[in-house]
Amino acid sequence: MAHRVFNFNPGPATLPLEVLEKVQGEFLDYRGTGMSVMESSHRAAEYNEIHNTTISLFRELLSLKDGYKIGFLGGGASSQFAMIPMNFLAAGKTGAYVDTGAWSAKTIKEAKRIGNVDVVASSTDKNNTYIPDLSGIKLGADTAYLHVTSNNTIFGTQYQSFPDTGDVPLICDMSSDILSRRHDFNKFAMIYAGAQKNLGPAGVTVVIIREEMLEKCADNIPLVFTYKTHADKDWLYNTPPAFPVYVVKLILEWIKGQGGLQAVEKVNMAKKDLIYGTIDANSDYYRGTVREDSRSWMNITMRLPSEELEKKFIAEAKAAGFVGLKGHRSVGGIRVSLYNALPMAGAEGLAKFMEAFKKNN
Ligand SMILES: *Cc1c(COP(=O)(O)O)cnc(C)c1O
Repeated sequence: MAHRVFNFNPGPATLPLEVLEKVQGEFLDYRGTGMSVMESSHRAAEYNEIHNTTISLFRELLSLKDGYKIGFLGGGASSQFAMIPMNFLAAGKTGAYVDTGAWSAKTIKEAKRIGNVDVVASSTDKNNTYIPDLSGIKLGADTAYLHVTSNNTIFGTQYQSFPDTGDVPLICDMSSDILSRRHDFNKFAMIYAGAQKNLGPAGVTVVIIREEMLEKCADNIPLVFTYKTHADKDWLYNTPPAFPVYVVKLILEWIKGQGGLQAVEKVNMAKKDLIYGTIDANSDYYRGTVREDSRSWMNITMRLPSEELEKKFIAEAKAAGFVGLKGHRSVGGIRVSLYNALPMAGAEGLAKFMEAFKKNN
């Protein structure tokens, strides 16, 4: 048996052992082809099956109605930060953005290079420790879209629900919580996510986009950066990140095998309840850093009584087999990332470790 730790890394992040073993088993000879998926043509029948199955699994797991195109691009979620305004921020239009921390700030920075941007809500007044209330949000008639970041990986906040934006397309960066819990995903005109948190290895970004958005794509930008170019060619306009897509397919099958989003949500809820419960029961020692109604299920941020103790916590946790707990360099402290593939046993072990650490320190 390989030595495996409980991997709390924020991304790239832990993957289910069963999936890794499946990849290993099929690695040298994928289904009798005598070659690895890595070596095979993206036009071959075997890859076609991977591509189409992955798309239909997304459709099924997210309960998407007809009218969405789903595809896979390279460039990471960050390239979507630029592609969205390039495609949809036509002259005279405004991109509305909610600023909830580092990743939203980056999307805003990119959009400002392309066109008009209106930051319609922000949590920067309180160091991004909460999700602004968007229930009464007013968007101007010239609004091309509203962009939100569903889970703020660095700050540890997460939307618990999403606003109704009427005719204004709602676009969401779901990089760090896609397929972690249920929502009405048909609310969104576009969802995108880099794979390396909850979906698979780095290198592929999933794009889920309503067909009518494709008709709005600018026609004066490079073809390779135009959503319509990719969608019109069934997202095989150029070579997709084939091997990462194959791993994503196995992850989606793993989610489906557990009972889909409802089942995954149940486990994720139990994991986050356990860790937040441990923080709250020991609030004289562990201090959660975000407002309670905005707490992320995926990335739990906390502080200890001193930076010294935080360093010691990280080192001793690592020695005990709990790896990747250091907070982002911009905020410090501890960050516990509880993505889908982090097993319940990992959360249970960490909760016990937290109790013991407090007692001994
Ligand atoms: C990690 C992350 C990104 C950046 O993804 P890349 O694939 O590195 O470009 C963007 N948004 C969120 C919410 C993230 O967590």
